[in-house]
Amino acid sequence: MFGTNNGIAGQVLVGFGTDVQKQQWLPRPAEGDVASFALMEPGAGSDPAGLRTTATRDGDDWSSRGQAFVGDERTGYRAAMTSLARGRVHIEALAVGSAQRALDESVSYAATATQGGTPIGDFQLVQAMLADQQTGVMAGRALVREAPRLYVTGEDQRIAPSVAKLFCTEMVGKVADLAVQVHGGAGYMREVAVERIYRDVRLLRLHGGTSEIQRLIIGGGLIRSAKRTV
Ligand SMILES: Cc1cc2nc3c(=O)[nH]c(=O)nc-3n(C[C@H](O)[C@H](O)[C@H](O)COP(=O)(O)OP(=O)(O)OC[C@H]3O[C@@H](n4cnc5c(N)ncnc54)[C@H](O)[C@@H]3O)c2cc1C
Repeated sequence: MFGTNNGIAGQVLVGFGTDVQKQQWLPRPAEGDVASFALMEPGAGSDPAGLRTTATRDGDDWSSRGQAFVGDERTGYRAAMTSLARGRVHIEALAVGSAQRALDESVSYAATATQGGTPIGDFQLVQAMLADQQTGVMAGRALVREAPRLYVTGEDQRIAPSVAKLFCTEMVGKVADLAVQVHGGAGYMREVAVERIYRDVRLLRLHGGTSEIQRLIIGGGLIRSAKRTV
C-alpha cells in the first residue's frame, strides 16, 4: 500500500493529474483506500513499451481497449515512466525500513535465545550475521538519503533511483534471509515477524522493475551519457 499509494499511483496524480482529478482522487489513498497503477499487462511487464492497450479520443471522452492513462495522449507514457522512477525512491525506503526491523528482531533474539545455556549472540558466527545485516542497513540508509536528494534537485531522476532500488531491495533480501538464519527453525514459523518479512520483501525485487531491469537502466544510462560527451 505504501509503495503504490504514495509511490507510483499517487505520483501520477501529483505530477500529471488536473486540479479536479487531484481534488477528487488524492484524498482517498491518503485516508487508506488502495490506489492502483495499472501499467503492466501480460507480455508487457519488464518491457512496458510493448503494451498493446489502446486509447482513442472520442469527442471529449476516451474509448479504451484495456487501460487508459490520465492527462492527454502525449503525456501518458512519460507520466508512467516518470512516476515509476519516483516510485523506486519509495520502494528503497520500504526496503531499508523492513531490513531495520529484521535486524532489530535478530539482535533481540540473539541476545536472549540460548543453546546449552549460552546466548546464541555470544557465538561469533551469529555475531557475523548481525554484522552483515547492520552493514547492509547502514549502506542502504545512506542511499535512501542520497537518491531522493538527487531526484528532488533534478540532478539525477533516472539512474540514482534505480541504483538505490537495486541495492536496497537486494540488501533487504539478504538481511531477511540472515534474520531467518539467526532465528534457526523458529524463523520458518508464522509466529515470528521475520518469517513474514522474508516473504514480504521478496516482492521488492520484482515490482517497480526487476533487479535485471534496474541494471539495464543503470548500465544503459551510463553508456548513453558517455556517448553524448564523446
Ligand atoms: C505484488 C505485485 C504488485 C504489483 N503491482 C503493480 C502495479 O501496481 N502496477 C503495475 O503496473 N504492475 C504491478 N506489478 C507488476 C510488476 O511490475 C511486474 O510483475 C514486473 O515488472 C515484472 O514483469 P513481469 O511479471 O511481466 O515479468 P517479466 O518481464 O516476464 O520478467 C521475467 C524475468 O525475465 C527478466 N527479464 C525480462 N526482460 C528482460 C530483459 N530485457 N533483460 C533481462 N532480463 C529480463 C526479468 O528480470 C525477470 O527475471 C506488480 C507485481 C507484483 C508481484
